[in-house]
Amino acid sequence: MKRISSCFCFVFVTLSLGACNPAQEPESTVASDGQIDLIVAGDYVVSMDAAGTVFEDGAVAIDDGVILAIGPASEIEATYSAKEVMPGDRRIVLPGLVNGHSHAAMTLLRGVADDLALMDWLNNYIFPAEVEFVDPEFVRIGTELACWEMIRGGTTTFVDMYYYPDTIAEVVDSCGMRALISATVIDQRSPDAENAGDSIDKGNGFIERWQGKNERITPIFGPHANYTLDKEQLAATRAAAMKFGVPISIHLSESPFEVQYSKDTYGTTSINMLESIGFFDGPTIAAHVVWPMPEEIPILAGRKVGVIHNPTSNMKIASGIAPITEMLEAGVRVGIGTDGAASNNDLDLWEEMRLASLLQKVDRMDPEALSATTVLTMATRGGATAIGLGDSIGSLEVGKKADVIQVAFDDVHHVPTYDVVSHLVFVTDEQDVASVVVDGKVLMREGTMLTIDTDRVAAEATALAARIQAALNERNEIQ
Ligand SMILES: [Zn+2]
Repeated sequence: MKRISSCFCFVFVTLSLGACNPAQEPESTVASDGQIDLIVAGDYVVSMDAAGTVFEDGAVAIDDGVILAIGPASEIEATYSAKEVMPGDRRIVLPGLVNGHSHAAMTLLRGVADDLALMDWLNNYIFPAEVEFVDPEFVRIGTELACWEMIRGGTTTFVDMYYYPDTIAEVVDSCGMRALISATVIDQRSPDAENAGDSIDKGNGFIERWQGKNERITPIFGPHANYTLDKEQLAATRAAAMKFGVPISIHLSESPFEVQYSKDTYGTTSINMLESIGFFDGPTIAAHVVWPMPEEIPILAGRKVGVIHNPTSNMKIASGIAPITEMLEAGVRVGIGTDGAASNNDLDLWEEMRLASLLQKVDRMDPEALSATTVLTMATRGGATAIGLGDSIGSLEVGKKADVIQVAFDDVHHVPTYDVVSHLVFVTDEQDVASVVVDGKVLMREGTMLTIDTDRVAAEATALAARIQAALNERNEIQ
Protein backbone atom coordinates (compact mmCIF):
# COMPACT_ATOMS: atom_id res chain seq x y z
CA MET A 1 0.00 0.00 0.00
CA LYS A 2 1.33 3.38 -0.96
CA ARG A 3 0.77 6.23 1.45
CA ILE A 4 1.00 9.76 0.24
CA SER A 5 3.07 11.44 2.88
CA SER A 6 4.61 14.56 1.45
CA CYS A 7 2.99 17.88 2.02
CA PHE A 8 1.74 19.33 -1.24
CA CYS A 9 3.23 22.76 -1.75
CA PHE A 10 1.19 23.57 -4.80
CA VAL A 11 1.43 26.81 -6.62
CA PHE A 12 -2.03 27.69 -7.67
CA VAL A 13 -3.90 30.49 -9.26
CA THR A 14 -6.92 32.07 -7.72
CA LEU A 15 -9.36 33.73 -10.02
CA SER A 16 -12.53 35.64 -9.43
CA LEU A 17 -13.73 33.57 -6.53
CA GLY A 18 -11.44 34.98 -3.91
CA ALA A 19 -8.50 34.57 -1.63
CA CYS A 20 -5.57 32.16 -1.60
CA ASN A 21 -5.76 29.02 0.49
CA PRO A 22 -3.14 26.42 1.32
CA ALA A 23 -3.34 23.54 -1.13
CA GLN A 24 -5.22 20.58 0.19
CA GLU A 25 -3.18 17.84 1.70
CA PRO A 26 -4.40 14.34 1.01
CA GLU A 27 -5.41 12.33 4.03
CA SER A 28 -6.33 9.04 2.47
CA THR A 29 -4.37 6.10 1.25
CA VAL A 30 -4.49 4.76 -2.28
CA ALA A 31 -5.75 1.35 -3.26
CA SER A 32 -3.66 -1.70 -2.45
CA ASP A 33 -2.87 -2.28 -6.12
CA GLY A 34 -1.04 1.05 -6.13
CA GLN A 35 -3.50 2.66 -8.49
CA ILE A 36 -6.28 5.05 -7.65
CA ASP A 37 -9.56 4.92 -9.58
CA LEU A 38 -9.64 8.22 -11.42
CA ILE A 39 -8.00 11.56 -12.10
CA VAL A 40 -10.17 14.34 -13.53
CA ALA A 41 -8.19 17.24 -14.99
CA GLY A 42 -9.15 20.68 -16.26
CA ASP A 43 -7.76 23.96 -17.56
CA TYR A 44 -9.40 25.24 -14.41
CA VAL A 45 -10.61 23.35 -11.36
CA VAL A 46 -13.24 25.47 -9.64
CA SER A 47 -13.38 23.88 -6.18
CA MET A 48 -16.31 25.94 -4.79
CA ASP A 49 -14.75 25.61 -1.33
CA ALA A 50 -15.44 28.35 1.20
CA ALA A 51 -12.29 30.24 0.21
CA GLY A 52 -13.20 30.16 -3.48
CA THR A 53 -10.07 28.29 -4.53
CA VAL A 54 -9.57 27.85 -8.29
CA PHE A 55 -6.64 25.82 -9.65
CA GLU A 56 -5.36 26.63 -13.13
CA ASP A 57 -4.28 23.45 -14.97
CA GLY A 58 -5.63 21.49 -12.04
CA ALA A 59 -6.80 17.98 -11.29
CA VAL A 60 -8.79 15.99 -8.78
CA ALA A 61 -7.60 12.57 -7.57
CA ILE A 62 -10.38 10.12 -6.74
CA ASP A 63 -10.38 6.69 -5.15
CA ASP A 64 -13.13 4.54 -3.71
CA GLY A 65 -15.72 7.25 -4.32
CA VAL A 66 -13.86 9.92 -2.34
CA ILE A 67 -11.69 12.92 -3.27
CA LEU A 68 -8.09 12.11 -2.28
CA ALA A 69 -6.39 15.28 -3.43
CA ILE A 70 -6.92 18.43 -5.47
CA GLY A 71 -4.24 20.67 -6.94
CA PRO A 72 -2.11 21.35 -10.05
CA ALA A 73 -2.46 18.54 -12.61
CA SER A 74 1.32 18.11 -12.89
CA GLU A 75 1.60 17.39 -9.18
CA ILE A 76 -1.45 15.14 -9.03
CA GLU A 77 -0.35 13.11 -12.06
CA ALA A 78 3.22 12.81 -10.73
CA THR A 79 1.94 11.56 -7.38
CA TYR A 80 -0.81 9.19 -8.40
CA SER A 81 -1.22 6.45 -10.93
CA ALA A 82 -4.86 6.13 -11.94
CA LYS A 83 -6.85 3.49 -13.78
CA GLU A 84 -8.48 6.29 -15.76
CA VAL A 85 -7.45 9.86 -16.48
CA MET A 86 -9.91 12.38 -17.92
CA PRO A 87 -7.74 14.89 -19.81
CA GLY A 88 -8.30 18.53 -19.01
CA ASP A 89 -7.67 20.33 -22.26
CA ARG A 90 -10.48 22.89 -22.74
CA ARG A 91 -12.30 21.37 -19.79
CA ILE A 92 -13.49 23.06 -16.58
CA VAL A 93 -13.81 20.86 -13.50
CA LEU A 94 -16.29 21.68 -10.76
CA PRO A 95 -18.55 19.95 -8.24
CA GLY A 96 -21.69 18.29 -9.59
CA LEU A 97 -24.75 20.53 -9.50
CA VAL A 98 -27.49 20.10 -6.87
CA ASN A 99 -31.11 20.33 -8.05
CA GLY A 100 -32.96 21.05 -4.81
CA HIS A 101 -36.52 20.62 -6.10
CA SER A 102 -37.92 18.45 -8.87
CA HIS A 103 -40.78 16.22 -9.89
CA ALA A 104 -38.60 14.10 -12.16
CA ALA A 105 -41.22 11.91 -13.82
CA MET A 106 -43.08 15.00 -15.03
CA THR A 107 -40.62 15.06 -17.93
CA LEU A 108 -43.32 12.94 -19.61
CA LEU A 109 -45.68 15.94 -19.37
CA ARG A 110 -43.08 18.36 -20.77
CA GLY A 111 -44.94 20.80 -23.04
CA VAL A 112 -48.26 18.94 -22.86
CA ALA A 113 -49.95 22.29 -22.32
CA ASP A 114 -48.35 25.71 -21.99
CA ASP A 115 -49.34 29.36 -21.77
CA LEU A 116 -52.47 28.61 -19.77
CA ALA A 117 -53.84 29.98 -16.52
CA LEU A 118 -52.83 27.80 -13.59
CA MET A 119 -56.23 26.25 -12.87
CA ASP A 120 -57.00 25.61 -16.57
CA TRP A 121 -53.56 23.98 -16.93
CA LEU A 122 -54.00 21.85 -13.82
CA ASN A 123 -57.66 20.87 -14.16
CA ASN A 124 -57.81 20.23 -17.90
CA TYR A 125 -54.36 18.83 -18.61
CA ILE A 126 -52.06 17.92 -15.73
CA PHE A 127 -54.50 16.32 -13.26
CA PRO A 128 -56.44 14.32 -15.92
CA ALA A 129 -53.19 13.05 -17.45
CA GLU A 130 -51.87 12.12 -13.99
CA VAL A 131 -55.07 10.38 -12.90
CA GLU A 132 -55.17 8.31 -16.07
CA PHE A 133 -51.51 7.61 -16.69
CA VAL A 134 -49.36 7.87 -13.55
CA ASP A 135 -48.45 4.35 -12.45
CA PRO A 136 -45.10 2.72 -11.64
CA GLU A 137 -44.32 2.33 -15.36
CA PHE A 138 -44.94 6.06 -16.01
CA VAL A 139 -42.75 6.96 -13.03
CA ARG A 140 -39.98 4.60 -14.15
CA ILE A 141 -39.86 5.95 -17.71
CA GLY A 142 -40.27 9.59 -16.68
CA THR A 143 -37.62 9.37 -13.96
CA GLU A 144 -35.18 7.64 -16.32
CA LEU A 145 -35.78 10.41 -18.85
CA ALA A 146 -35.16 13.01 -16.13
CA CYS A 147 -31.99 11.31 -14.86
CA TRP A 148 -30.68 11.15 -18.42
CA GLU A 149 -31.27 14.91 -18.85
CA MET A 150 -29.89 15.78 -15.41
CA ILE A 151 -26.72 13.72 -15.87
CA ARG A 152 -26.25 15.15 -19.35
CA GLY A 153 -26.52 18.63 -17.80
CA GLY A 154 -24.10 18.04 -14.92
CA THR A 155 -26.62 17.57 -12.11
CA THR A 156 -25.39 14.88 -9.73
CA THR A 157 -27.86 15.22 -6.83
CA PHE A 158 -31.58 16.00 -6.83
CA VAL A 159 -34.44 16.27 -4.35
CA ASP A 160 -37.53 14.68 -5.84
CA MET A 161 -41.22 14.69 -4.95
CA TYR A 162 -43.58 12.47 -6.91
CA TYR A 163 -45.64 9.29 -6.67
CA TYR A 164 -44.39 5.69 -6.38
CA PRO A 165 -41.13 6.64 -4.61
CA ASP A 166 -39.90 3.03 -4.61
CA THR A 167 -39.79 3.19 -8.40
CA ILE A 168 -37.93 6.53 -8.29
CA ALA A 169 -35.41 4.98 -5.88
CA GLU A 170 -34.91 1.96 -8.14
CA VAL A 171 -34.13 4.26 -11.10
CA VAL A 172 -31.70 6.35 -9.02
CA ASP A 173 -30.07 3.16 -7.76
CA SER A 174 -29.42 1.93 -11.29
CA CYS A 175 -28.49 5.25 -12.98
CA GLY A 176 -25.91 6.12 -10.29
CA MET A 177 -27.14 9.58 -9.24
CA ARG A 178 -27.54 10.83 -5.67
CA ALA A 179 -31.03 11.80 -4.48
CA LEU A 180 -33.32 12.66 -1.62
CA ILE A 181 -36.60 11.03 -2.62
CA SER A 182 -39.84 12.21 -1.03
CA ALA A 183 -42.83 10.05 -0.33
CA THR A 184 -45.55 12.53 -1.32
CA VAL A 185 -48.15 13.22 1.38
CA ILE A 186 -51.35 14.85 0.15
CA ASP A 187 -54.93 14.77 1.43
CA GLN A 188 -56.64 13.79 -1.79
CA ARG A 189 -56.83 10.72 -3.93
CA SER A 190 -53.49 10.55 -5.69
CA PRO A 191 -52.01 7.96 -8.06
CA ASP A 192 -50.52 6.01 -5.13
CA ALA A 193 -52.68 6.79 -2.05
CA GLU A 194 -56.24 7.52 -0.94
CA ASN A 195 -55.67 10.42 1.47
CA ALA A 196 -53.16 11.95 3.89
CA GLY A 197 -53.25 9.09 6.40
CA ASP A 198 -52.80 6.50 3.67
CA SER A 199 -49.92 8.44 2.11
CA ILE A 200 -48.15 8.75 5.51
CA ASP A 201 -48.58 4.98 6.04
CA LYS A 202 -47.16 4.28 2.60
CA GLY A 203 -44.35 6.77 3.23
CA ASN A 204 -43.45 4.91 6.43
CA GLY A 205 -43.14 1.71 4.39
CA PHE A 206 -41.01 3.42 1.73
CA ILE A 207 -38.61 4.84 4.33
CA GLU A 208 -38.35 1.49 6.13
CA ARG A 209 -37.45 -0.19 2.84
CA TRP A 210 -34.85 2.36 1.70
CA GLN A 211 -33.26 3.92 4.80
CA GLY A 212 -29.64 2.75 4.95
CA LYS A 213 -30.00 0.60 1.84
CA ASN A 214 -28.00 2.71 -0.61
CA GLU A 215 -25.68 5.45 0.57
CA ARG A 216 -26.64 7.59 -2.48
CA ILE A 217 -30.36 7.46 -1.71
CA THR A 218 -32.04 9.25 1.20
CA PRO A 219 -35.75 8.48 1.58
CA ILE A 220 -37.68 11.44 3.04
CA PHE A 221 -41.25 12.73 3.43
CA GLY A 222 -42.79 15.25 1.02
CA PRO A 223 -45.94 16.86 2.43
CA HIS A 224 -47.22 18.68 -0.66
CA ALA A 225 -48.25 22.08 0.78
CA ASN A 226 -50.24 23.76 3.53
CA TYR A 227 -53.33 24.03 1.28
CA THR A 228 -53.46 20.31 0.44
CA LEU A 229 -52.93 19.17 4.06
CA ASP A 230 -54.41 20.53 7.27
CA LYS A 231 -52.49 21.47 10.41
CA GLU A 232 -52.88 18.06 12.05
CA GLN A 233 -51.77 16.23 8.92
CA LEU A 234 -48.72 18.48 8.57
CA ALA A 235 -47.83 17.87 12.23
CA ALA A 236 -48.35 14.12 11.78
CA THR A 237 -46.02 14.12 8.77
CA ARG A 238 -43.32 15.91 10.78
CA ALA A 239 -43.76 13.43 13.61
CA ALA A 240 -43.31 10.53 11.16
CA ALA A 241 -40.17 12.16 9.74
CA MET A 242 -38.79 12.69 13.27
CA LYS A 243 -39.35 9.03 14.06
CA PHE A 244 -37.01 8.08 11.21
CA GLY A 245 -34.71 11.10 11.59
CA VAL A 246 -35.26 12.15 7.98
CA PRO A 247 -35.82 15.58 6.40
CA ILE A 248 -39.02 16.90 4.86
CA SER A 249 -39.46 18.65 1.53
CA ILE A 250 -42.50 20.89 1.01
CA HIS A 251 -43.83 23.61 -1.30
CA LEU A 252 -43.86 26.73 0.87
CA SER A 253 -45.13 30.28 0.39
CA GLU A 254 -45.21 29.68 -3.34
CA SER A 255 -48.08 31.84 -4.56
CA PRO A 256 -50.37 34.71 -3.53
CA PHE A 257 -53.14 32.06 -3.47
CA GLU A 258 -51.29 30.10 -0.78
CA VAL A 259 -50.65 33.20 1.32
CA GLN A 260 -54.33 34.17 1.16
CA TYR A 261 -55.47 30.60 1.86
CA SER A 262 -53.27 30.47 4.94
CA LYS A 263 -54.54 33.84 6.22
CA ASP A 264 -58.17 32.80 5.66
CA THR A 265 -57.73 29.37 7.22
CA TYR A 266 -55.20 29.91 9.99
CA GLY A 267 -55.25 33.66 10.51
CA THR A 268 -51.58 33.93 9.59
CA THR A 269 -49.19 33.27 6.71
CA SER A 270 -47.69 29.87 5.88
CA ILE A 271 -44.28 30.11 7.54
CA ASN A 272 -45.71 31.58 10.76
CA MET A 273 -48.33 28.82 10.86
CA LEU A 274 -45.77 26.04 10.37
CA GLU A 275 -43.51 27.57 13.01
CA SER A 276 -46.47 27.63 15.45
CA ILE A 277 -46.92 23.85 15.16
CA GLY A 278 -43.22 22.99 15.49
CA PHE A 279 -42.99 21.94 11.86
CA PHE A 280 -39.42 23.27 11.61
CA ASP A 281 -38.21 21.20 14.59
CA GLY A 282 -36.56 18.85 12.08
CA PRO A 283 -34.67 19.51 8.82
CA THR A 284 -36.85 21.11 6.15
CA ILE A 285 -36.30 21.72 2.43
CA ALA A 286 -38.76 24.40 1.31
CA ALA A 287 -39.38 24.89 -2.39
CA HIS A 288 -40.17 28.33 -3.89
CA VAL A 289 -40.65 30.66 -0.84
CA VAL A 290 -41.65 33.50 -3.16
CA TRP A 291 -43.86 35.36 -0.67
CA PRO A 292 -42.34 35.23 2.84
CA MET A 293 -43.35 38.12 5.09
CA PRO A 294 -40.32 40.15 6.24
CA GLU A 295 -40.76 38.81 9.79
CA GLU A 296 -40.79 35.23 8.50
CA ILE A 297 -37.31 35.39 6.94
CA PRO A 298 -35.50 35.26 10.34
CA ILE A 299 -37.56 32.15 11.16
CA LEU A 300 -36.20 30.45 8.03
CA ALA A 301 -32.64 31.46 8.95
CA GLY A 302 -32.94 30.51 12.62
CA ARG A 303 -34.55 27.16 11.88
CA LYS A 304 -31.93 26.38 9.19
CA VAL A 305 -34.67 25.79 6.60
CA GLY A 306 -33.18 25.09 3.17
CA VAL A 307 -34.95 27.35 0.67
CA ILE A 308 -34.93 26.19 -2.95
CA HIS A 309 -35.29 28.91 -5.58
CA ASN A 310 -37.05 27.87 -8.82
CA PRO A 311 -36.86 30.95 -11.05
CA THR A 312 -38.18 29.49 -14.32
CA SER A 313 -41.20 27.83 -12.73
CA ASN A 314 -41.93 30.96 -10.69
CA MET A 315 -41.92 33.01 -13.89
CA LYS A 316 -43.83 30.52 -16.06
CA ILE A 317 -46.67 30.04 -13.58
CA ALA A 318 -46.45 33.77 -12.76
CA SER A 319 -45.92 33.08 -9.06
CA GLY A 320 -43.67 36.10 -8.57
CA ILE A 321 -40.03 36.93 -7.80
CA ALA A 322 -38.61 35.43 -4.61
CA PRO A 323 -36.63 37.80 -2.32
CA ILE A 324 -33.44 35.75 -2.67
CA THR A 325 -31.09 38.61 -1.89
CA GLU A 326 -32.93 39.44 1.33
CA MET A 327 -32.95 35.79 2.39
CA LEU A 328 -29.21 35.38 1.73
CA GLU A 329 -28.47 38.59 3.63
CA ALA A 330 -30.48 37.22 6.57
CA GLY A 331 -28.41 34.03 6.58
CA VAL A 332 -31.01 31.71 5.04
CA ARG A 333 -29.59 28.61 3.35
CA VAL A 334 -30.60 28.99 -0.30
CA GLY A 335 -30.24 26.43 -3.09
CA ILE A 336 -31.65 26.25 -6.58
CA GLY A 337 -33.97 23.87 -8.42
CA THR A 338 -35.83 23.28 -11.65
CA ASP A 339 -39.24 22.17 -10.33
CA GLY A 340 -40.96 19.69 -12.67
CA ALA A 341 -40.47 19.75 -16.43
CA ALA A 342 -44.17 20.53 -16.93
CA SER A 343 -43.58 24.01 -15.54
CA ASN A 344 -40.03 24.73 -16.72
CA ASN A 345 -39.85 22.91 -19.34
CA ASP A 346 -36.38 21.41 -18.95
CA LEU A 347 -34.04 20.39 -16.13
CA ASP A 348 -31.18 22.73 -17.00
CA LEU A 349 -29.66 24.16 -13.80
CA TRP A 350 -27.34 26.42 -15.82
CA GLU A 351 -30.39 28.25 -17.12
CA GLU A 352 -31.78 28.44 -13.56
CA MET A 353 -28.55 30.03 -12.33
CA ARG A 354 -28.58 32.58 -15.12
CA LEU A 355 -32.25 33.47 -14.58
CA ALA A 356 -31.83 33.62 -10.79
CA SER A 357 -29.14 36.24 -11.16
CA LEU A 358 -30.92 38.25 -13.86
CA LEU A 359 -34.25 38.27 -12.01
CA GLN A 360 -32.72 39.70 -8.82
CA LYS A 361 -30.84 42.35 -10.80
CA VAL A 362 -33.89 43.64 -12.64
CA ASP A 363 -36.21 43.28 -9.65
CA ARG A 364 -33.93 45.40 -7.46
CA MET A 365 -32.67 47.55 -10.34
CA ASP A 366 -29.20 46.64 -9.11
CA PRO A 367 -26.70 44.97 -11.47
CA GLU A 368 -24.57 43.96 -8.49
CA ALA A 369 -27.36 41.81 -7.04
CA LEU A 370 -26.81 38.02 -6.96
CA SER A 371 -23.39 37.74 -8.59
CA ALA A 372 -22.19 34.81 -10.70
CA THR A 373 -20.22 33.47 -7.74
CA THR A 374 -23.28 33.63 -5.48
CA VAL A 375 -25.56 31.70 -7.84
CA LEU A 376 -22.87 29.13 -8.64
CA THR A 377 -22.58 28.62 -4.88
CA MET A 378 -26.37 28.18 -4.65
CA ALA A 379 -26.14 25.41 -7.26
CA THR A 380 -23.21 23.64 -5.53
CA ARG A 381 -22.01 24.08 -1.93
CA GLY A 382 -24.93 26.26 -0.85
CA GLY A 383 -27.47 23.90 -2.37
CA ALA A 384 -25.80 20.94 -0.71
CA THR A 385 -26.03 22.72 2.66
CA ALA A 386 -29.68 23.63 2.02
CA ILE A 387 -30.59 19.96 1.54
CA GLY A 388 -28.49 18.75 4.49
CA LEU A 389 -25.57 17.23 2.56
CA GLY A 390 -23.09 20.07 2.98
CA ASP A 391 -20.59 17.92 4.83
CA SER A 392 -20.30 15.34 2.06
CA ILE A 393 -20.91 17.04 -1.32
CA GLY A 394 -21.14 20.48 -2.96
CA SER A 395 -17.44 21.33 -3.21
CA LEU A 396 -14.22 19.67 -4.32
CA GLU A 397 -12.37 19.12 -1.07
CA VAL A 398 -10.30 16.26 0.28
CA GLY A 399 -12.50 13.70 1.99
CA LYS A 400 -15.74 14.74 0.28
CA LYS A 401 -17.70 12.43 -2.01
CA ALA A 402 -16.38 12.45 -5.57
CA ASP A 403 -19.31 14.11 -7.35
CA VAL A 404 -17.38 15.89 -10.08
CA ILE A 405 -18.20 17.24 -13.53
CA GLN A 406 -16.19 18.40 -16.51
CA VAL A 407 -17.64 21.19 -18.65
CA ALA A 408 -16.37 21.55 -22.24
CA PHE A 409 -15.22 25.07 -23.01
CA ASP A 410 -14.52 24.55 -26.72
CA ASP A 411 -17.83 25.76 -28.12
CA VAL A 412 -17.80 29.19 -29.78
CA HIS A 413 -19.93 30.71 -27.02
CA HIS A 414 -17.09 30.18 -24.54
CA VAL A 415 -14.53 32.00 -26.71
CA PRO A 416 -12.83 34.06 -25.38
CA THR A 417 -12.74 33.22 -21.69
CA TYR A 418 -11.78 36.08 -19.36
CA ASP A 419 -13.54 34.86 -16.24
CA VAL A 420 -14.42 31.19 -15.94
CA VAL A 421 -17.06 31.65 -13.22
CA SER A 422 -18.82 34.36 -15.22
CA HIS A 423 -18.92 32.00 -18.22
CA LEU A 424 -20.24 29.08 -16.18
CA VAL A 425 -23.21 31.19 -15.05
CA PHE A 426 -23.90 33.50 -17.97
CA VAL A 427 -22.91 31.30 -20.94
CA THR A 428 -22.82 27.56 -20.19
CA ASP A 429 -25.81 25.34 -21.06
CA GLU A 430 -26.58 21.73 -20.21
CA GLN A 431 -25.26 20.66 -23.64
CA ASP A 432 -21.76 21.87 -22.68
CA VAL A 433 -21.25 19.28 -19.95
CA ALA A 434 -18.78 16.66 -21.16
CA SER A 435 -18.36 14.15 -18.32
CA VAL A 436 -20.05 13.39 -15.02
CA VAL A 437 -18.80 11.42 -12.01
CA VAL A 438 -20.94 10.54 -8.98
CA ASP A 439 -19.52 8.75 -5.96
CA GLY A 440 -16.35 8.17 -7.99
CA LYS A 441 -18.20 6.35 -10.77
CA VAL A 442 -18.31 7.75 -14.30
CA LEU A 443 -21.95 8.17 -15.42
CA MET A 444 -21.22 10.11 -18.62
CA ARG A 445 -17.93 10.23 -20.51
CA GLU A 446 -17.48 12.87 -23.20
CA GLY A 447 -21.22 12.98 -23.85
CA THR A 448 -21.82 9.24 -23.84
CA MET A 449 -24.28 8.04 -21.21
CA LEU A 450 -22.97 4.92 -19.48
CA THR A 451 -25.75 3.95 -17.06
CA ILE A 452 -28.93 4.67 -19.04
CA ASP A 453 -30.07 2.97 -22.26
CA THR A 454 -31.04 6.22 -23.96
CA ASP A 455 -32.49 4.62 -27.13
CA ARG A 456 -34.86 2.50 -25.06
CA VAL A 457 -35.88 5.39 -22.79
CA ALA A 458 -36.51 7.73 -25.74
CA ALA A 459 -38.65 5.09 -27.48
CA GLU A 460 -40.65 4.33 -24.33
CA ALA A 461 -41.19 8.03 -23.55
CA THR A 462 -42.32 8.79 -27.10
CA ALA A 463 -44.79 5.88 -27.10
CA LEU A 464 -46.27 6.86 -23.75
CA ALA A 465 -46.54 10.52 -24.80
CA ALA A 466 -48.53 9.48 -27.88
CA ARG A 467 -51.06 7.72 -25.63
CA ILE A 468 -51.29 10.78 -23.35
CA GLN A 469 -51.81 13.08 -26.34
CA ALA A 470 -54.56 10.89 -27.78
CA ALA A 471 -56.38 10.68 -24.44
CA LEU A 472 -56.23 14.45 -23.87
CA ASN A 473 -57.44 15.12 -27.45
CA GLU A 474 -60.39 12.82 -26.95
CA ARG A 475 -61.20 14.31 -23.53
CA ASN A 476 -61.05 17.91 -24.67
CA GLU A 477 -63.07 17.20 -27.87
CA ILE A 478 -65.86 15.67 -25.82
CA GLN A 479 -66.05 18.68 -23.50
ZN1 LIG B 1 -42.83 21.61 -7.15
